[in-house]
Parts: sequence; C-alpha cells; structure tokens
Amino acid sequence: MMEMHAGALHISLYPFLAAASKYVKESGVTLDDLITAVVFERARLRGKERVREALKEGTVRKPVIMSTAQAEVELLSYPFARILVSCIGDERLVRRYALSEAKSAYEKLKEDSSSDTDIIDELSREFGIRVDLVRLPHEQGREQVHLPFVDYLRFTSTLRDKRWKLVNRRLEKGWVKLRRGEFLRIIQEAIYERVKRDLPLDVPKALCESLSSYTEDIRQELEVLRRKYDDRGFEPVSGFQVRDPRSFPPCIAAILGNLRDGVNVPHTARFAVTAFLLNIGLTGDEIIEIYKNAPDFDEERTRYQVEHIAGDKGGVRYTTPSCDTMRTYGNCVGSDETCEKVAHPLSYYKLKLKVKRKEGQEGKSTKRKSAGLDLRL
Ligand code: SF4
Repeated sequence: MMEMHAGALHISLYPFLAAASKYVKESGVTLDDLITAVVFERARLRGKERVREALKEGTVRKPVIMSTAQAEVELLSYPFARILVSCIGDERLVRRYALSEAKSAYEKLKEDSSSDTDIIDELSREFGIRVDLVRLPHEQGREQVHLPFVDYLRFTSTLRDKRWKLVNRRLEKGWVKLRRGEFLRIIQEAIYERVKRDLPLDVPKALCESLSSYTEDIRQELEVLRRKYDDRGFEPVSGFQVRDPRSFPPCIAAILGNLRDGVNVPHTARFAVTAFLLNIGLTGDEIIEIYKNAPDFDEERTRYQVEHIAGDKGGVRYTTPSCDTMRTYGNCVGSDETCEKVAHPLSYYKLKLKVKRKEGQEGKSTKRKSAGLDLRL
C-alpha cells in the first residue's frame, strides 16, 4: 500500500487533478498492480461503482473519507473507472461518465469553497485561468471572481443558457465579473473536458476481456437505460395525442438524442423540442425528466421555462417552430422523404401516425383474409 500523504484526502475527492496523477505515479502502483493485485480489489470494485452511479444517477457519490487507506481506494478507483469506460467503448457512456464526474465535483466544490478561498486559486491554476478575487466591502465582504473575457469565452462556449452570453455579463476593461458559484459552474465545464480528454483510452483487447467480470453488469445496465430512453413513457393514448417516438421527425429525434447523451443543446432547439412534446401531450414533469441529463440542468429554471412554453401562467401555449424557422436556426437535421411533404414538424408526426395506422389496418385485414382461407381449407 502507498505511504501516508497529507494531500491524499483532498485529491481523492478531485482525482482528475494533475496532483492526483502525480501522487499515483510517485506511489509506485503500476497499471498491472491496479488490474491484477488482490490488494486493489476494493479500488476496482469502487471503480465499477463510479461508472454504475454515473449511469444510474447521473452523478458519482463522494463518500466520507475517514482514513488515508480509504482515500487511496477512492483515488485509484478513478483510473480504473476510466479503463472500464474505455473497454465498453460507448460514446454516450463516455459523455455521461465525464459529465457525472464533473457534476459531483462541482457539488463538492460548492461545499468546500464556502469556507476555503484557496480552492478557487488552486482550480484556476489547474486549468490555466487567470483570476482576481475581489472582496466587496458593501456586501459583507463577499468575494467576486474576475477573469479575462478570453478565458470566460473558452469555458462558456458550450453553455446554452442566455445568462452565460457575454452581452449579459458585467464586463469591465476586458474582465468578466462573476459570483463565486458562477465561477465554479465554469470550472465544472473545465472538469468535464479534463475527464473526457483521451477517453476512450486505447486499452488492449485482451486486457478488456480479462476485465469482463467488471464490465458485464455495466454493459447490461447501459442496454436497459438505452431501451428505457428510447421508449420512455410514450404509451399510446387517444387521437393526436398518441406518443410514438418512432414517428418523431428527424429534427426532434436528434435533439432528444443529444439531450439523452448529455450534449449541450442550443436554446432554440430546447424551445422546439419542449413545444413539440407539450403539443403531443407530454406533461411538464415528463419533459423535465428528459432534461435531467443536460449538463447545465437546473430543475427550477427548466420548470419555469416549460411552464412558460405551455402557457401555464395564463399566457399563450407556444407551438413548435415551422420547418423554415428550424432551418434558420440550424435545427433541421437529417430530413428524410416525409419532410418533403410537410412544412411543420407536427405535420410530419401527424402524417407518420396516419400512415402507420393505415398500414396497421391493412395488415389486420390481410391477416383476417388469410385466417379465413385457412379455415376454408
Ligand atoms: S424538414 Fe421539418 S420536420 Fe423534417 S427534419 Fe427539418 S424541421 Fe424537422
């Protein structure tokens, strides 16, 4: 086992830090040890748990660390989890895993940074961001984080909410002013990129095969999740409210696919998909559930936006934008031959349902006919 180390507890909670890989390197534990030695079985099992938690919960639990030995298990479980994710080699799993690690680090950082200013300094250095911490004397000494707008843009380009747009920020002499919590949210993006970097790793096939006892459960859970998302709650109801995802237009299917995979989706696409789903009869809660995978998911904000589009607060219910508008915003993707007959994504859906119903009826009458023939014979 590795020797006692003062920083072990800290880096075990943030295992993507450069200091964490340095610690592992200096400890002398080799990849071979991690994969085969009995003494590292706990680290391997915890590595598997990291991936399963990411899959099932969309976050990775931060355990209470009571000893250096426990910290080392936690620390070593991270590279092992990366190996497992790489062996499975599923792009969506890679994104979901990276996002879950980033989200749980963000939650931990929020806790830690309320009493520790050094962590802001540490993370800024880690990700090469120049920051100035400014105390606000009129606000009980609260701190503001100032960072150059170039760094701000570097890490916010994937954040779709309009509050992150540079025009909506306070900018002074090239510096953007942020609250501590906002800065940490930016750090979450940097962590996501760091965790995702190099994944999937190039793990030899034979090695992956030797780890099948760790990957098998994960593969099965991934499959269950894939089926669940593909069929989520779209049970048939009456009339136009039939919810059949296989009849969704390509544009809506693509946006839903991105949301499911944790890809940041532009505001215009979120609006389109929300309006579409509301119009075919999904409830606000069902729609919020779909957004839970989004990297910047905020339940309160999402609920507000969904209710606004639904017209729940006495306003008008919005409808999905037309195909022309979808094209203007770059949201018309994967159009097919049915698209040529419609000018609106809802018309696409209606038409598909109609064709399906017709085909279903024809199928039934053919079956009835052949049953009759059989009987006559
Ligand atoms: S043509 Fe219309 S329905 Fe088809 S993908 Fe584009 S926006 Fe969607």
